[in-house]
Amino acid sequence: MEDADLIKQAIESTKKARVLGTDKLGYVGAALISDKNNVFTGVSLDCYCGIGFCAEHSAIAEMVKNGETRIRKIVAATFDGTVLPPCGRCRELMFQLNKENLDTGVIVSKDKKAKLRELLPYPWQERIDVSF
Ligand SMILES: [Zn+2]
Repeated sequence: MEDADLIKQAIESTKKARVLGTDKLGYVGAALISDKNNVFTGVSLDCYCGIGFCAEHSAIAEMVKNGETRIRKIVAATFDGTVLPPCGRCRELMFQLNKENLDTGVIVSKDKKAKLRELLPYPWQERIDVSF
C-alpha cells in the first residue's frame, strides 16, 4: 500500500467522529498496515482532565484485538490532512508491543518516512533486564 493511500485512510477514519461536532473526538486519525497486510484505523479522544488517547493507540488496540502486534507502516493525520509524527508515548507503545516494530515505517510528513528505531534511538529497555 502506498503511503498516500494509508494517509487517506487515516483522514477518512475521522469522518464519523467529526460529525459529533467537537474537536475532542476524532481530531486526529491513524491508519496502520500490519505485517499480515491488514489495515487498522483509529481516532484520537482528547477530553478534559487529561482523559483520552492518541489515534495511534486506538488503531493499535484494534490490531491487537485482531491478534496482531507487528506494524509494517503507520501514519497519523488531522481530519483536514496534516500528517503528524507520533508522540513519544506512541513511539514507546509500538516498541513495547513488539520489538520488531523498530523496523516499522513511520510516515512523519506527506513526503517523509522514518523507521521507528530512528525516532526512538536509545531504548531504556536495553539497559536493564525486562521482557514484555
Ligand atoms: Zn501519541
